[in-house]
Amino acid sequence: MFDVIIVGAGAAGCSAAVTARMRNLDVMVVFSGDGAMRKAHWVDNYPGLPHIEGHELVTKMRAHVETMGVKMLYGLVQKILPMGRSFSVLVDNDIYESRSILLACGTSRVKTLGGEEALLGQGVSYCATCDGMFYKGKEIIVVGAGAEAIEEANYLAEIARVTYFSESRHDLAGLDAAITVVSEKPKAIKRENTGMILETDKGTHTADGVFVFRPSVAMTQLLPEVAVEGGSVKVDKIMATNISGVFAAGDMTGQPLQAAKAVGEGNVAALSIASYVKGLKDGAK
Ligand SMILES: Cc1cc2nc3c(=O)[nH]c(=O)nc-3n(C[C@H](O)[C@H](O)[C@H](O)COP(=O)(O)OP(=O)(O)OC[C@H]3O[C@@H](n4cnc5c(N)ncnc54)[C@H](O)[C@@H]3O)c2cc1C
Repeated sequence: MFDVIIVGAGAAGCSAAVTARMRNLDVMVVFSGDGAMRKAHWVDNYPGLPHIEGHELVTKMRAHVETMGVKMLYGLVQKILPMGRSFSVLVDNDIYESRSILLACGTSRVKTLGGEEALLGQGVSYCATCDGMFYKGKEIIVVGAGAEAIEEANYLAEIARVTYFSESRHDLAGLDAAITVVSEKPKAIKRENTGMILETDKGTHTADGVFVFRPSVAMTQLLPEVAVEGGSVKVDKIMATNISGVFAAGDMTGQPLQAAKAVGEGNVAALSIASYVKGLKDGAK
């Protein structure tokens, strides 16, 4: 049981992890990528580090977290389940328990395909390791939205015949030669007697299963109970959401989308979490 699981290792998540460790909390950070900062060519407004490349700044932040004894886990958080006084967190196909949660997932607004969420677990999967073997020797459609999808598609190609569709522009150079790439824009997923159907801007494609790989998960799937306003997670002054034990920080709480704001909110959230966890533990005595 962790005191806090932080979802995201960008500016907000790293800042929160450092402060949470300094308050002696048992912390795990789960992250699926480098976040927005990796895309910033130069950052000129981060105090103390003038004119630094975005990827260097996030690398320095992550190294700082690692030196503090924080468990860093590379993976995609698929779902967070409130369990009363704790939370179960599904990371790929493993479950972790925590007393509190910090959402620090950045701005990524995930737009799912039509029918995708309703068919999750019924022909649609987000996890190659968990579900790939069900399709041994069969036809799989992969919808990929970033570099992370390449590795997953290649793994599936060892098991089944894979056809790959890009949801957003990314480098396909690393795809296994056995994978068929179709340059059509995915629109919706349906299930019919003949199998799973992917509708694109140009037609339809049939397979036994559809795997969707994005670097983030829609809030409606991740934690549907959390209140969202104007596309941002609603928080109060201590970065608490409407769910007891769930806090949020950084770009996901809205403007300004800036590293220094994300770091500040991560710091406030970590202190609030320390006080929340202390309250839980004192109450249990
Ligand atoms: C091109 C560009 C230039 C920029 N220039 C500047 C600048 O000059 N100055 C400045 O202050 N700011 C700049 N920014 C903004 C800055 O990068 C962001 O404000 C900052 O990175 C926000 O930090 P964050 O922690 O909220 O989110 P992010 O840094 O985006 O981190 C989000 C983290 O959440 C993870 N994640 C998301 N969903 C999941 C999930 N389901 N499971 C596991 N992990 C998940 C991601 O992998 C990532 O680790 C720029 C942004 C861009 C895109």
